[in-house]
Amino acid sequence: AIWIQGTYLIRQEACGFTAATMTITTSTIGFPRIGEKREVKKALETYWKKATSLEELLAVNNEAQRLAWTLQADAGVALVGLDGTLYDQVLDFIFYLGLAPPRFSHLSGYDLYFALARGVPGTEALDMSKFFDTNYHYLVPELATTVTPKPDFSLLYDKVKRGQDAIGKEKAVPIVIGPNTLVGLSKPADASAPFDHDSAIKALLPAYTELLTQLKALGVPEVQMHEPILTTSDAAKLKAEFESSYSELSKVGVPLNLVTYYDDIGEAYEWAVKLPVAAVSLDFLGVPGSALGNETAALVEKYGFPNDKRLGAGVVDGRSVFADGETPTNLVAALLKKGIDNISVQSSTSLQHLPYNKDLETELPADLVARLAFAKQKVAEIVEAASKAPSASAPASLTAALPTVNDPKEAIAENLFNRSEDFKARRAKQIQTPDFPTTTIGSFPQTPELRRARLQFKKGQLSAEDYEKVINDYMKYANDEQERIGLDVFVHGEPERTDMVEYFGVKLEGFAFTEAGWVQSYGSRYVRPPIIYGDVSRTGPITVKEFKYAQSLTQKPVKGMLTGPVTILNWSFPRKDISRSAQAYQLALALREEVADLEAAGCKVIQVDEPALREGLPLKRARWESYLSWAVRAFRLSTVVAGPATQIVTHLCYSEFADILPAIDGLDADVLTIENSRSGDEMLRCLAKYGYSRDIGAGVYDVHSPVVPPVDFIEGKIKTFLDVNLLSGNRKLLWVNPDCGLKTREWAQVLPSLENMVNAAKNLRAQT
Ligand code: GLN
Ligand code: ZN
Repeated sequence: AIWIQGTYLIRQEACGFTAATMTITTSTIGFPRIGEKREVKKALETYWKKATSLEELLAVNNEAQRLAWTLQADAGVALVGLDGTLYDQVLDFIFYLGLAPPRFSHLSGYDLYFALARGVPGTEALDMSKFFDTNYHYLVPELATTVTPKPDFSLLYDKVKRGQDAIGKEKAVPIVIGPNTLVGLSKPADASAPFDHDSAIKALLPAYTELLTQLKALGVPEVQMHEPILTTSDAAKLKAEFESSYSELSKVGVPLNLVTYYDDIGEAYEWAVKLPVAAVSLDFLGVPGSALGNETAALVEKYGFPNDKRLGAGVVDGRSVFADGETPTNLVAALLKKGIDNISVQSSTSLQHLPYNKDLETELPADLVARLAFAKQKVAEIVEAASKAPSASAPASLTAALPTVNDPKEAIAENLFNRSEDFKARRAKQIQTPDFPTTTIGSFPQTPELRRARLQFKKGQLSAEDYEKVINDYMKYANDEQERIGLDVFVHGEPERTDMVEYFGVKLEGFAFTEAGWVQSYGSRYVRPPIIYGDVSRTGPITVKEFKYAQSLTQKPVKGMLTGPVTILNWSFPRKDISRSAQAYQLALALREEVADLEAAGCKVIQVDEPALREGLPLKRARWESYLSWAVRAFRLSTVVAGPATQIVTHLCYSEFADILPAIDGLDADVLTIENSRSGDEMLRCLAKYGYSRDIGAGVYDVHSPVVPPVDFIEGKIKTFLDVNLLSGNRKLLWVNPDCGLKTREWAQVLPSLENMVNAAKNLRAQT
């Protein structure tokens, strides 16, 4: 075997007559864009504050890209995907293709770019949406009925040239969001005038052809065409669309690599691998710990892979912070054994979903650090697997090369998932309230004083007693204001929490927290998801102390406030050695103890938030049922320990629930609170139509706006509950609350808003 610029060329002598050449190369398909020390984030934010020039911002961003590309090339990667963006890769293509909606026509250049992302006074930004099943958010292209791109790819050409200068022409591979995915991710500019997918793609093809022609002229070795749309459940229907666009694009004559990720491509496999491209990249791993796993290995086993193409083998897990061990090597060895001998070893998805470098962590336990691999370490895994696989002994089959996920079958008795009495019976025993009962969703403003005190406490400048006093004073203030305003069910305001998942993670066994494990959520926003690395358990009460204090201040019921098991799991990096459902049950059992303790401490209403329930849904509908089944059971496992007199509330927000109503009903919560303002009462209609029959608290105003909603506006909102005949207009079961928590607002906005909300409820109570 000879190692040429990161590519193995191996001559196999068979029977001394024929000689076949085996090629194992390495590629990357995306990398964190933030810079190792979050340089890009800081540069963006100072630029937006007008504290630096555009030139300075671009210099920082270009340098971050150069460092990322050189890191990958120096590690031995043969084909480096030229990732990197100032904000979002989909936005980049909206911008390059000249697809900005007309309302932005007064803007150009970077002003336009950032206005598309963030809006400017008088011009609303593009919508933001979750990118497939990740926690990354992209900007949603808006397409008119007739799509008329005004392409200008000069910034992309610049980037490619910078890439070529940094790592050499033979290694620098442009990344392009494919036309089918771009259109697939778009929404109609005007909901009443939808665009036709086929014609939209056709309208974009000349621009893409021009782009590929120029890239070819720049001498790139190939172009990555990112088409993750192929992993969604509708992919099988996209055959004609893909065949016509790729037959057109292949005419340019630059080698194309069709890159798919986030799952297997299912039924699309048979035709997608035959498209006129030089390489097809497949994700062999899917969502970590997904019990059903991913079907790529089985598809390759069943249908084989065409020998005139390179297989991009996504065998290094791009979505898990855990090291991949022998899996990548085994998978590649199994592919070779199957006779597939033109392979590129790569990550299963872009590495943008991982933190940059685990070597920056100084506080994590050494045994855990040894088990981790962040983006930089994943690159090393790719190179290592490519060099080891040809001489490794291959597993019996491709599927045997995949890691097995254990399910600790702790038998959980079926009665642990059910309340002791049905809703009707328990509702009569629960707190009694006036018609249109009023409450809030949990958090009150995270004030500058609160943040300062928390920081001082962390730094040891404020004693535990003094910090506790700050928290208690806050709860006292919140209590007195709720009393004055006249709300019916109180909250303590969550002053002790910065983040609804981190707060619980820190207090539970089995979680680790990084110092620099930042992952992009959108634009300059990065989050640090906790890492679940061991069995989760509770060592003692988590929220009981704050609850007791808050309840001691009032006769009104104060809600216990917990984050649900599914949300904690979905906003963390899960383990890979046991299934997600097993982890959700462990979390649920820990929360169940907390529910029991809150109840024992006199708590009459316990809210368990599940805002991330929906976003855990698998990309393919065929797998929804399995996910929803364990997710709902995990919620129930955590809550049903409550006696019949304890009211269980849940809160879901900012997502579509219409298609998962049976699951929501299955939560068996006594009160369901949901965001409503932004979804235009659509959910209310769906719930009414479904015949949902337990208490509902639909949000009566948008918490993301600083505007104080007037009384008559809120009255109007409450009347829509009656208009759509929600709960047959039962005024005792129709709660009045804001859309979500109020932590991002100021007290000066919160207090008058809640006054108006309570007055609106009172006005309606007076009317019969
Ligand atoms: N109880 C949480 C809060 O009020 C709920 C937040 C959420 O839904 N994301 O902040
Ligand atoms: Zn919410």
